[in-house]
Amino acid sequence: MQRPLVAAAPVTEAVNTHSDGDHWWGNDTLPSAARITTSAASLDAMHEDLPPAALTALATTGALIGRVPGPVGAAAAYVARVRSDARFPRRTPRLPDRTFHTTHRLTVGDRTVELERLGPCHTAGDVVAHVTDAGVVFTGDLLFVASTPILWNGPLDNWLAALDRLIRWDAAVYVPGHGPTGTVDDLRALRDYWWWLRDAGRDHHARGSSVRQTARELARSNEFGRWSAWRSPERLVLSLSTLFDRWNGNPPGPPTVTRRARAFADAETLLREGIFPQ
Ligand SMILES: [Zn+2]
Repeated sequence: MQRPLVAAAPVTEAVNTHSDGDHWWGNDTLPSAARITTSAASLDAMHEDLPPAALTALATTGALIGRVPGPVGAAAAYVARVRSDARFPRRTPRLPDRTFHTTHRLTVGDRTVELERLGPCHTAGDVVAHVTDAGVVFTGDLLFVASTPILWNGPLDNWLAALDRLIRWDAAVYVPGHGPTGTVDDLRALRDYWWWLRDAGRDHHARGSSVRQTARELARSNEFGRWSAWRSPERLVLSLSTLFDRWNGNPPGPPTVTRRARAFADAETLLREGIFPQ
């Protein structure tokens, strides 16, 4: 945070776009007078998600037992790998103060910020913030730029509809949840990725292939070349685990601990096989 900037214009309003820890576990660094807003669905998910201490324990264990053969060691190793050198808070951080269901208008100084809940997509309650007079949209994790997206909750069709809506806004700048700022072209590229993964994945699922085997074959396909340079390409496995769960007849929803652990183990296994560039 740039102190000279916030000294002249203190933070009075903040928005948590969704319930993933990397998007709200920093809430304690905000001034206590600042009001934090999110969707009701995101607040529910924040209550239900694993607390930071549990993930810290898993990552620490992963660093120690990552070489233990089998899915438990692989899943823990993947958590340790993803955490890298990030430090998690010791206890659950401050939760948002205010929630809304579909839309909400914030006034920040003399500026209007339109909030809209477009989830469930990436998570249950994904929110975007549109600063209309500036032509800027903060997309949360509905947009990743030069970085592989993750479908955790779904349904994917809802995410595709959200991307269509964001494209129609035709903003000058889209601030993604991960990666540098983007344009409508980045939204279109993400839409292309989802179309490809959905259609190719569904063919493999129909043939009885596993998530891991499907990911292996898709990563080796010519089509994948277009996206292989995006960061963390192995996340393809995480999204496939959600898609397969849906195609197996389960309703959309946050991943169970078992599904998440299995997906992490698959991602770690494929990374160790050298399927994905690192
Ligand atoms: Zn996220």
